[in-house]
Amino acid sequence: MKKRVFSGARPTARQHIGNLLGAIDNYVKLQNDYDCVYCIVDIHALTTLQETDKIQGYIRDLALDWLAAGIDPQKSIVFVQSHVPEVTELQTYLGMMTPLSWLLRVPTFKEKAKAQPDNINYGLVGYPVLMTADIILYKAEVVPVGEDQLPHIELAREIVRRFNLQFGETFPEPKGVLTSFPTIPSLTGKSKMSKSEEGSTIDIAHTAEETSARIMTAVTDPARKFRKDPGHPEVCNIYSLHKYFTPSEVEKIGTDCRAAAIGCVDCKKLLAKNMNESLAPLRAKRLELAAKPDYINKVLADGAERARIIARETMKEVRHKIGLS
Ligand code: SF4
Repeated sequence: MKKRVFSGARPTARQHIGNLLGAIDNYVKLQNDYDCVYCIVDIHALTTLQETDKIQGYIRDLALDWLAAGIDPQKSIVFVQSHVPEVTELQTYLGMMTPLSWLLRVPTFKEKAKAQPDNINYGLVGYPVLMTADIILYKAEVVPVGEDQLPHIELAREIVRRFNLQFGETFPEPKGVLTSFPTIPSLTGKSKMSKSEEGSTIDIAHTAEETSARIMTAVTDPARKFRKDPGHPEVCNIYSLHKYFTPSEVEKIGTDCRAAAIGCVDCKKLLAKNMNESLAPLRAKRLELAAKPDYINKVLADGAERARIIARETMKEVRHKIGLS
């Protein structure tokens, strides 16, 4: 029996190359060694997404990005969170045994509360409980995470321990596996590439022309004002991207930058060319899939059906153990 992996992504915007290099490529690799469950977590999206009329479009985009990148619906379960309503029932039961103090200390809750002080909703504080329900509904043992998600997994483990202690061994304690998620810097030069920052990303779905235009206007080393000024590649986001898209020449680019032997315009043109070449097959596949809306609907419907078979079994056991059956 292969171990089960669970992971999810919020459909709040199109996926960008930070998501591709940091998470999606890893999802594709995991399919060979694990029984993978990949979920488009639309209920989670509601904690921050106000324009809910856009959510179906984002779900579709996310499914296209995943499938085009190589997530195989024959190997993995790919589905939408709200299509398996058992998850909200489990969230309710887990909520009854999760002390509020555990939730209020989660760093991402504090950050989100600061970012949207006028909308500190109940869902925001309960986010890790729903996330725990997502994982354990499928009895997943492995959760690929970035470092910022580790406190959520630790909390999920605490909730599982509490449930198992009170009602008997039911769920495996999920383990957060830190993958070597590279931090892809924002094109604006601030922090990491993020869908919440305007102009920060290159989306998987961008055309080659859009990609080139975004790269050409990206912020580079702020201290390099003129072509003759030596640069500092270690602080330049274009250089960071060359590490992934121009690996064989990255050392020379760094040396040339420091010696002012290459200008930022040429450096950016080289990156745009290499990035577009590298993403071309994925983008072609995405266009091909986008022309078949019925296929995407079928993948998500099949995924939900397979997920529900597991979810129904888990909830039968949970209700029985709690004493609700
Ligand atoms: S030459 Fe390249 S690496 Fe150096 S600052 Fe300009 S864009 Fe960045």
